[in-house]
Amino acid sequence: MATVAAAGAHEAVGSTIPVTIGVLALQGDYEAHARAFANAGARTVLVRKAEGLAGVDGLVLPGGESTTMLKFLEQDGFFDALGKFVVSMPCFATCAGCILLAREVLHPPQRSLGVLDATVERNAYGRQIDSTILTLPTTLPGGLLEMVFIRAPRITQVGSKVEVLARRDGYPALVRQGNLLVATFHPEMTSDSRVQKLFLDMVTAHKAQ
Ligand code: GLN
Repeated sequence: MATVAAAGAHEAVGSTIPVTIGVLALQGDYEAHARAFANAGARTVLVRKAEGLAGVDGLVLPGGESTTMLKFLEQDGFFDALGKFVVSMPCFATCAGCILLAREVLHPPQRSLGVLDATVERNAYGRQIDSTILTLPTTLPGGLLEMVFIRAPRITQVGSKVEVLARRDGYPALVRQGNLLVATFHPEMTSDSRVQKLFLDMVTAHKAQ
């Protein structure tokens, strides 16, 4: 169960409806996301095929390797089905998921779903060994947020409809654009559930419409 929030607001208004969170489970750390949402009180299902999108109220696009995910998505019309889903349904994308949603991908360029009005540079902070944990300011209620960056992309440019909720080195690290919530880091790897709760509020508000 999640709490319904007014559209665009982060503040809960009190009523509850059950929601089902799908987690794209082609590759990457989808199990950690499923656990994090189950802990936050949602029903979760793993989505491995286009048909799996039918029964979910919102979708997580996890971290992992975006190139590998693309290879799986290019089978059986999954890329096109996902492309339709992400236009209007609530989606929460982290790291490789952010790369999949971006309008433009660099370093090197690659195909993407194109719905997040942003330019994203892959592996912008170097190799695996350059991965890091930072505690940084966020506009989310509750103060500083611990952020785990693993071979993270950098969002180098965003359009005017993109709200920035946290930054790393001045670059957007957590953003929201309408139905999309996107992080360049891994909220599923910490015990702080504020990002999951914001997404559940978005999903519940969308379902209540
Ligand atoms: N470097 C990966 C990619 O380019 C993303 C890393 C991650 O998801 N943690 O797809």
